[in-house]
Amino acid sequence: MQTILNFIDGRFAPAASGRTIDNPEPATGEVYSTLPDSDAQDVAAAVAAAKKALPAWAATPAEERSRILLRVADLIDANLERLARAESIDSGKPLALARSVDIPRAAANFRFFATAILHTRSDLHQTGANVLNYTLRQPVGVCALISPWNLPLYLFTWKVAPALACGCTGVGKPSEVTPMTAFLLSELLAEAGLPPGALNIVHGRGATAGAPLIEHPDVRAISFTGGTSTGAAIARAAAPKFKKLSLELGGKNPNIVFADADLDAAADAALRAAFTNQGQICLCGSRVFVERPIYERFVDRLVEGARSLRVGDPLDAATQQGAVVSREHHAKIAAAVEQARRDGARVRCGGGPPSAPVSPRCADGSFYLPTVLTDAPPTCAAMQEEIFGPVVTVTPFDTEAEALALANGVRYGLASMVWTRGLDRAHRVAARLEAGIVWINCWMVRDLRTPFGGMKDSGVGREGGDEALRFFTEPRNVCVQLREHTP
Ligand code: NAD
Repeated sequence: MQTILNFIDGRFAPAASGRTIDNPEPATGEVYSTLPDSDAQDVAAAVAAAKKALPAWAATPAEERSRILLRVADLIDANLERLARAESIDSGKPLALARSVDIPRAAANFRFFATAILHTRSDLHQTGANVLNYTLRQPVGVCALISPWNLPLYLFTWKVAPALACGCTGVGKPSEVTPMTAFLLSELLAEAGLPPGALNIVHGRGATAGAPLIEHPDVRAISFTGGTSTGAAIARAAAPKFKKLSLELGGKNPNIVFADADLDAAADAALRAAFTNQGQICLCGSRVFVERPIYERFVDRLVEGARSLRVGDPLDAATQQGAVVSREHHAKIAAAVEQARRDGARVRCGGGPPSAPVSPRCADGSFYLPTVLTDAPPTCAAMQEEIFGPVVTVTPFDTEAEALALANGVRYGLASMVWTRGLDRAHRVAARLEAGIVWINCWMVRDLRTPFGGMKDSGVGREGGDEALRFFTEPRNVCVQLREHTP
């Protein structure tokens, strides 16, 4: 049994109350570690440590902050195998995915922001002959950095790295469902020489550890990634206190395939976009819309692809589909598919757990087969609400206008995909899709300099590149009146 501890003021400690939460391995259902069941007392200690560390860290030259964060990136690389295995065990994702995507991206997050801060510039506005306005950007202060379970270290570091790079200090609250790699990161932060208190990590539940963190009066900015209803609760709590807020929330992303598309490329990408990480990525293409002439062929391809995905022990190198993150989440996915059936959807493949255990070790694991649904009415829950599992709907359309209406006909607006060889159509549709990200003839191609985030109920604000540097700094306009030269 492994014991996960909080990381406060450079020291490892259990929750002040001594309470713990059991942490099961999704692939087996067995509790393999415990984490602190932290509450307001632990949060207060963590925020106090961040507040104490703020003046010195904010005053540390960017070159020195950069050096420390680059060391963190190197340490993540050096610990790739250990971190990837820990992530796979903790979340149920295939080890191959953690090794090739999650952990390398965590290192990339640190490297990107460690170097970005060496290349920033500030605005100067000259007003007439004798007035200069310049913009000072200073760290926003103590930040709350709250992340979800689907890409645990990847998304946690996507917040921690820019916050620290900008000279902020903070308190990280990883998901209680997948706390392990954030705990391992705290060891690496200490080893890299991050000053005590610059980043504190408090483990625990949203209601008891997350809520006091966002409400704490000394927390000036909140960077949150998670579900839309949690985002709404955070916005309600933060608004009266005028905290700076970045909310990255749910998605129900459309993937539009026109008949002139490269069918092979579109079908391969639709399969990956639907089922990578068991469909538990906010950017997954969970609603596929296919132009009628190629619809039947496309459905056949997708079903064939979904059936061929190897569901298995996440630690097995050949596994393409691991376990979903928890028993509770498995039950939610199953209930959503049952509801879709009642709403008239046809289950073309999947629609339940594998008929036999994927391996003896994983007999009690939370596995769900890749599932393709057709004939789902556009207004039904399966087409409107996030399932966040290995479930995709496929729907035909006849015109570009209809495709856009279907794609935009949800409350979410995170990512979208368009497959076509028509240049005009690609740009026309991209400009009309209500989404923060439009991928044309690709999926999940990421450049960390680009703005990342969603519109409508998918969130407020953007992460990535300059957007993150702006979020974690407070701009101040300094206006200077120059006196006339009198010889
Ligand atoms: P969640 O909202 O349940 O939890 C996210 C985090 O918030 C966890 O650390 C949790 O403990 C904490 N939390 C819960 N209630 C809180 C409260 N009242 N105050 C403060 N913190 C609280 O989300 P989840 O189930 O962990 O993650 C899945 C969701 O995240 C999906 O909806 C998915 O689309 C979304 N997501 C969005 C993005 C994006 O970039 N837009 C990326 C990944 C995941």
